[in-house]
Amino acid sequence: AGGSRAALWEKPEPQPDPGRRAKTETETDTRVVVITPPSVMDPAPVAPRPQPPGGSVREVYVAQYDYSARTNQDLSFNTGDTLVALDKSPGEWWLARALTGVSASKQGYIPANYVAPVESLDAQPWFFSETRRLESERLLMAEENQHGAFLIRKSESHAGELALSVLDNGKVKHYKVIKNESGQYCVSRNRAFKTLKELVEHYSRQADGLCVQLGSPCKKTEVPLPFSMSFDTVDQWEIDRKSIKLLKKLGAGQFGEVYEGLWNGTTAVAVKTLKAGTMDREDFLREAQIMKTLHHKRLIQLYAVCTMEEPIYIVTELMEHGSLLEYLQKDRGSTLHTSDQIEMAAQVASGMAYLELQNYIHRDLAARNILVGENNICKVADFGLARVFMKESDSVYEAKEGTKFPVKWTAPEAINENKFTIKSDIWSFGILLYEILTFGQMPYPTMTNFQTIQSLSQGYRMPCPPKCPKKLYQIMLDCWIEQAQDRPTFETLQWKLEDFFDLDVSSYDDASPY
Ligand code: ATP
Repeated sequence: AGGSRAALWEKPEPQPDPGRRAKTETETDTRVVVITPPSVMDPAPVAPRPQPPGGSVREVYVAQYDYSARTNQDLSFNTGDTLVALDKSPGEWWLARALTGVSASKQGYIPANYVAPVESLDAQPWFFSETRRLESERLLMAEENQHGAFLIRKSESHAGELALSVLDNGKVKHYKVIKNESGQYCVSRNRAFKTLKELVEHYSRQADGLCVQLGSPCKKTEVPLPFSMSFDTVDQWEIDRKSIKLLKKLGAGQFGEVYEGLWNGTTAVAVKTLKAGTMDREDFLREAQIMKTLHHKRLIQLYAVCTMEEPIYIVTELMEHGSLLEYLQKDRGSTLHTSDQIEMAAQVASGMAYLELQNYIHRDLAARNILVGENNICKVADFGLARVFMKESDSVYEAKEGTKFPVKWTAPEAINENKFTIKSDIWSFGILLYEILTFGQMPYPTMTNFQTIQSLSQGYRMPCPPKCPKKLYQIMLDCWIEQAQDRPTFETLQWKLEDFFDLDVSSYDDASPY
């Protein structure tokens, strides 16, 4: 197996990374010139110098989040520190030199998604790109924020649309930010500003028709994850199992146990240990190779694997609150409002829309396979593994009464003809919506698996859960359309859920002109 193993571990062709946001028109890279381009090998601290003629061009970035070094090759930094990018070719990790802060004048690797070009819109603490209405409400309602906290959001799917969202006495108000005929920004027709920064400065000095004078920018509580644990593990993701310390058992599934672990003594991770013989190692590695290339903020990131001995370890990001099913069933579920439930569903749809774009099928979408982090963040987990397990032992997944096959989540054509497609994932998403709206109730609660299959074939569908908005129930029914091709796409589901309360203009407040 040595030969095939080498082939399996070849680095995949570099692909455009859809998870990484393309630079927007409004962004400007500020460039400085550094006299001697420091060598990668040169550990000597070099202070930044004034721009010389003929020097090489380096880009300056501002840290958007705090980062604590995980190895002796990377740099610790805090929000607001500035760094010069020396080599961006590694992609996910850049070689950089810190200009300010705890690592000032040191060089090392930094996660590229923690920084933004200095003075760009993305570097503004109040600018939240790709943030929709419901998400902005979740972020602003976090306990770290106070009255007057605000953000300006931009949605990539609704090109050019900007909105100002403000926390006012525990409620979030939204104002459309409009660009007038002369290209200036305004929330109220009587006052226009050349830049968003000027607009923010103005309303930070006085309410001037807004519900409240702008206070502090919304806290950026959702720290993006580096795509790998460190610069080293981007390529070398078969890691020494001695580098992982298992700390605490978090749970167990049918294929093994899950632990909270610590990698390299620095980095919290989740470690899934697979029972010996649950899957074919080569099949698993092939699948893991693909999974490693999938990056999205709503997908659990696969970091590394230990496959040289049994049990196989799968090392992923750690999610504070465990599975969505447990989360819904426990006390936290009872604190959720309908808008929270819809927002969580929208997050799952967004992760799945990414998989849809990658032509990747989940095959086991259910609340037990969604994980929850701080502030109700939901991420899709266990994608791709179902396929590997299935290949290994078809009998486990047979649609028989009493087997482990998740019959109640599976589309009829997948049960009957083994046709697993993104459209069968859509069916499962409808069941997941039902789980979310019923706080983790078993679907088809009074039926056995066999009765479920029979009833579905006669056109039966679950009734609208109590307190579920009719519009949302219609989305479930759309997911359960008999003909797979007539079901919606995840992209459509994502915007329908994200815009659930945003479809009529009256959902925006007016800045009352003086
Ligand atoms: P099955 O694998 O049988 O479908 P499952 O998905 O519940 O069931 P696992 O994926 O093995 O089983 O997970 C078991 C439990 O471990 C989960 O319910 C969750 O509470 C916890 N868990 C799994 N992965 C993580 C993670 N990345 N972070 C935090 N907790 C996790």
